[in-house]
Amino acid sequence: MRKVDVPDGYPPEKGRYARGNDFSPVAVCVILDTFDFNIPPELEELLMAGLDAGAALSGMLQTENIGMEKMICNIVANPNIRYIVLCGREAAGHLPGQALLRLMEKGVDEKRRIVESKAPTPYLFNLSAEAIERFRTQIVAVVNLLCEPGETDRSAPGLDPEAVGKAVWSCFQEEPVPFKGYDLYDMGAYPEPPLVQKVVWKASKPWELAGTHRPQKQISALVVYKLLPGTNCRECGEKTCRAFASKLIQWMKLPKDCPHLLKPEFDEERAALSTLLGI
Ligand code: SF4
Repeated sequence: MRKVDVPDGYPPEKGRYARGNDFSPVAVCVILDTFDFNIPPELEELLMAGLDAGAALSGMLQTENIGMEKMICNIVANPNIRYIVLCGREAAGHLPGQALLRLMEKGVDEKRRIVESKAPTPYLFNLSAEAIERFRTQIVAVVNLLCEPGETDRSAPGLDPEAVGKAVWSCFQEEPVPFKGYDLYDMGAYPEPPLVQKVVWKASKPWELAGTHRPQKQISALVVYKLLPGTNCRECGEKTCRAFASKLIQWMKLPKDCPHLLKPEFDEERAALSTLLGI
């Protein structure tokens, strides 16, 4: 069976995931339905179950735009990955699970909006069209175990580590294994070389590219301010971090305009800002 070595620098994007067996045909995507920095233990357990069962990557997906773009970058960089096991419970605010399923089924339109997604801002502006289409052909199935928002029953397949482990195991069998309506087996690597790309911030005003108005949701400037470095160094062009926070919630600046936020120690703050701002 054809397997390929992963390229240098793989996985190209950082995030809340763990790397397992690079030759495995499956990645696990746990929807993160909270907006603070703590990952609920039951979701952490799912991530580890995926890894223990032999996934290539096992991680959290929080947003329907930048989070999804990073996941796509990491998957198309490893042609061995042919399946995604989708689990956890849907995040009511961002609907990243539904966005992923619609992306696979329908793709994106000319404005890079995921067709028929009900998520608030399902735009993939920061990836090449090539990467999006490659993702849609490389992945042969999303094994959908996702629970409804707010589900607490740990025996539901999407919250059951054993079910997630069984899904992963099924994906790397040599003969097809029936699993919850899917026939899963390892068909070998996608027949094209790794596609190595990173998310590039191209959209400074995404709502203009989309031809839509920016989201009208109310965001607290104080909450945004608390995620900033707080040094008032002015390198973003604003006199204070507080002023920068005001510009962020008006979408007149982006998190990348603060050079300090790009440092690894602010990874979590940057992720939280992306979630809050819906970018
Ligand atoms: S560059 Fe960042 S740390 Fe400096 S003032 Fe602007 S927001 Fe604050």
